[in-house]
Amino acid sequence: MNRTKIDYVTHTWNPITGCLHGCPYCYARRQAERGLGAYGRLPKGERFKPRFWPGRLAEPLNAVKPRRVLVCSMGDLFGLGVSDNWRDEVLGVMGACAGRGFGHTFLVLTKRPEEARRYMTQDDTGSNVRVKMQENGWESREDLLNIAPPGSVLPDDPVWPLPNVWLGTSCEDQAAAGERIPLLLETPAAIRWVSLEPLLGPVDLGEWLYPWHTESAHAEDCDGTCRNCPVPVQVQDDLMLNWVVVGAQTGPGAVTPEEVWVRDIIRQCREAGVPVFCKANLGFPDLPRQYPQGVELQTDLNPYEGHAREG
Ligand code: SF4
Repeated sequence: MNRTKIDYVTHTWNPITGCLHGCPYCYARRQAERGLGAYGRLPKGERFKPRFWPGRLAEPLNAVKPRRVLVCSMGDLFGLGVSDNWRDEVLGVMGACAGRGFGHTFLVLTKRPEEARRYMTQDDTGSNVRVKMQENGWESREDLLNIAPPGSVLPDDPVWPLPNVWLGTSCEDQAAAGERIPLLLETPAAIRWVSLEPLLGPVDLGEWLYPWHTESAHAEDCDGTCRNCPVPVQVQDDLMLNWVVVGAQTGPGAVTPEEVWVRDIIRQCREAGVPVFCKANLGFPDLPRQYPQGVELQTDLNPYEGHAREG
């Protein structure tokens, strides 16, 4: 894993690199084609082909302190040319980190949510990943029960979908949002998020941020007749976005987003109560970097508290 300047994570991890999506603004392809580091040992013209790097798999398992990790920042885990077996290997490490109590949070971003949905919902993915988790040192609760001293308190097995994996899709404009976000919302994931980077136009997220609705709640010792009841409680629908990131295009000929586009996205998120993070590369110093201000995003999801939601 490498430390990174990407301001919503602490590290990147690239056990798979390369992508065939062909976005004209792709920063990762420019970097790979320059031939820096390990890319320099690859033939020109093949540096950005999908490639599996088994030697990088164990990096999160060797990091002691909790990290917030962008997975495959130099490619797309669900891209064309990436096999399910490679994905099992990568998720097996992320799952082992959850199962072994490492505090890492893994952020996955894809432009192919239809492939993420296919992979995450097919029958054997969970069991294949579980096998890889065991190969990475995670032992199931049943196994631990056999060797644990009497009276030990043991964690439950990690749940599926993995509780420490946030699944997102990147959308550059309204058309991409309309195509990709509904597919993302049909995919099992602990947290679902969208990266509006590079933002190339105004985006209305309303359909996928709403509805919030209210339910009544009563104090435990109240029969519901006191004058303070009912207490409204905001309830988030499972099938909506949990987090929004906004960023700008960089590099030669970059399109600068208009401030009004970004302000409108912040307004939409604020009204829906959904956290939004504005990357520094937007270049609008007067805009809030994140909403809610000063509230850390939930990075310490406990694998054993069953935060996962089914899509
Ligand atoms: S999907 Fe991402 S990695 Fe692939 S070409 Fe587009 S920007 Fe690059």
